[in-house]
Amino acid sequence: PMDAGFFVAWFEEAAGLVRRDRDRLTELDAAIGDADHGTNLDRGLTEVVQALAGSPPESPGQALTVAGVTLIRKVGGASGPLYGSVFRQMGRSIEEPVTLARFAAAFEEGVVALERLGKAALGDKTMVDALVPASRALALALRDGVGAPEAFELAARAAAEGAAGTIPLQARKGRASYLGERSIGHEDPGAASSALFMTALATVA
Ligand code: ADP
Ligand code: MG
Ligand code: MG
Repeated sequence: PMDAGFFVAWFEEAAGLVRRDRDRLTELDAAIGDADHGTNLDRGLTEVVQALAGSPPESPGQALTVAGVTLIRKVGGASGPLYGSVFRQMGRSIEEPVTLARFAAAFEEGVVALERLGKAALGDKTMVDALVPASRALALALRDGVGAPEAFELAARAAAEGAAGTIPLQARKGRASYLGERSIGHEDPGAASSALFMTALATVA
């Protein structure tokens, strides 16, 4: 069941993957940003895991809200408020008991909140380029009657493909956009970390 513990496990798994890939994420950011994405997110997710362990959430909504608020408070840099808005909105939107359909609906609302805050569209070379395909993959899986673990696998694959797809793009939002054409040829760090979030989800499901 996708209960509070499931969401705690999601953030623990995501924290582990980001810790493992911290240097890769920071190197991606070194190429087109300010070389702090891996350390930013590692610090933020460590705080999230600590907050969730310190006062175990009683509901999925509470777990998501704690994660969102913690990321907003503790991550300096664009990605903190952006990821924070995804999870805070998910926390607000999610209905219980959580089913795959309800997860997908709340996730989509989280992505909409991100797009509203960051004003990035698909193709702007940001985390949107991984998260929108993931959200669409969940919707397609639901339509096709695909169950939870497989649906999350499809979403993870879509996010990874979306992240890889940022390589030939020119950045139009965030620090990387200052580089203009020189941002072409590098994977967007936020899209790469978004793919890790979706991989974590598929792993715990
Ligand atoms: P900062 O750029 O402040 O150092 P991070 O390095 O932690 O913050 O995060 C950078 C990532 O944030 C980018 O790779 C991109 O995916 C994402 N990002 C930046 N600006 C936006 C935006 N306006 N909308 C969506 N995502 C954005
Ligand atoms: Mg940065
Ligand atoms: Mg920074």
